Amino acid sequence: MARYTGPRCRLCRREGIKLYLKGDRCYTSKCALERRNYPPGQHGRVRRKMTEYAMQLREKQKAKRIYGVLEAQFRNYFAQAERQKGLTGENLLRLLERRLDNVVYRLGMAASRAEARQLVRHGHILVNGRRVDIPSYLVEVGDKISFDPRSKESPRIQELLERAAQNNPPPWLRYDPNEAIGEVLAFPTRDQIDVPVKEHLIVELYSR
Ligand code: SF4
Repeated sequence: MARYTGPRCRLCRREGIKLYLKGDRCYTSKCALERRNYPPGQHGRVRRKMTEYAMQLREKQKAKRIYGVLEAQFRNYFAQAERQKGLTGENLLRLLERRLDNVVYRLGMAASRAEARQLVRHGHILVNGRRVDIPSYLVEVGDKISFDPRSKESPRIQELLERAAQNNPPPWLRYDPNEAIGEVLAFPTRDQIDVPVKEHLIVELYSR
């Protein structure tokens, strides 16, 4: 599946908030948004009143960018969310949270979703002891996530193991530092998904 390969800080500047796309750098003074907190481009500093459509579009773009998903795949998630019982917006976020790359990031086994995606793609991640190299794989309750033992000699994986051991995952996930295994305890509820997205605006946009 394709992914965005352009400058990531530009995306944060466009949305006007930190999307934490670059891992540890996002927490330092090198963060581009802290230096230039205005949209990119020649007219970035011009203030314009947002239309209703623009607000809906921005929320959708923000969600896509946070999870690193492109338009076609995002639409598929939306269609799937619509078919499920309950609130479509909440279902949508839950599906995005269940992506394997997101779960690896949430468990602290990667510094960013982009790094998590690469770890999965390169075959470093096991689900229930089997290699899964599809970042969009949707985890199920009870799934156990770990690094491939063969990867553990890598200095970066060593760092990530330490990171995961100190990380505080959301309540729907658990990480056992002794076994170096993460587990999906439940699917997340809306209040357990800490993304700054107003999902009802995305539903409104796609309902136009
Ligand atoms: Fe966004 Fe991180 Fe770049 Fe800051 S450093 S602008 S949070 S991607």
